Amino acid sequence: MNMAEKIAKMITESKKVSVLTGAGISTESGIPDFRSPGGLWQKFDPSLLSADMLQNDPKNFYRRGLQVLEQINAVKDVKPNKGHYVLANLQKEGKIHCIITQNVDGLHTKAGARDVIEVHGSLDKGFCVVCGKKYSFSHITSLVKEGKIPPLCSCGGLLRPDVVLFGDMLGPHYARAIAEVRKSNLLMVVGSSLEVAPVNHLPDLSSKLVIINREPTLFDRDAVLVWHQQAGKALSQIYDQVQKIAK
Ligand code: NAD
Repeated sequence: MNMAEKIAKMITESKKVSVLTGAGISTESGIPDFRSPGGLWQKFDPSLLSADMLQNDPKNFYRRGLQVLEQINAVKDVKPNKGHYVLANLQKEGKIHCIITQNVDGLHTKAGARDVIEVHGSLDKGFCVVCGKKYSFSHITSLVKEGKIPPLCSCGGLLRPDVVLFGDMLGPHYARAIAEVRKSNLLMVVGSSLEVAPVNHLPDLSSKLVIINREPTLFDRDAVLVWHQQAGKALSQIYDQVQKIAK
């Protein structure tokens, strides 16, 4: 059996399957990841995206850190790719039960996936750290472009993007992700270096782990199957095999 056949067999034989995705699933849509060669961490200092920077030096966060988030948001007319569509289809067909993502790009939902658990938030939203009033991310960036740095709420509080920054606590979405993975018989990780904590604790909670990633990860030795492959290609082949098994 080839790798696609093996993974398809595991998916169809598992009662509950969860999927955890990372920036690697969206590189085929043109959005750079953080850690690959040419990724965002080769151009930017990760400390720019920290809760500490936002709190203690908000002007610097908005002058420099915001540029990193804008790189993710900058791809014009960004569209989901084959990988996002395969996962959405597998979910619709009841073959996978839960999609957890570290991504903030919203592409799983755009591809038709339902109830995606966005453990690191979403780049289309923002809020006031004082009164909690919600704002769109584009409103925040337009204030910054007008030179209103840092951007402020009508109450005078600091506005921030609704994404998890380094040093932020993870919210209720992460608790849900933990519960879903614990209930699953299989966790399939797609396109993540698994270097970001605490999300990289999820593989330890799964009874069976499959990893699809272009490069090796620290968790490869814990997985029952590891496929070093492009996400779109791997997921398309897996989908074809799942359809064959279903016939
Ligand atoms: P990461 O950059 O640490 O790792 C990405 C992994 O994906 C790498 O190991 C790389 O080898 C692999 N990869 C890249 N392209 C691939 C492809 N086409 N097919 C298969 N594998 C591929 O990203 P991460 O693990 O998600 O963690 C870092 C953080 O990056 C997350 O918190 C996420 O919020 C943030 N991020 C998100 C986006 C986005 O929303 N699209 C983009 C950049 C960073």
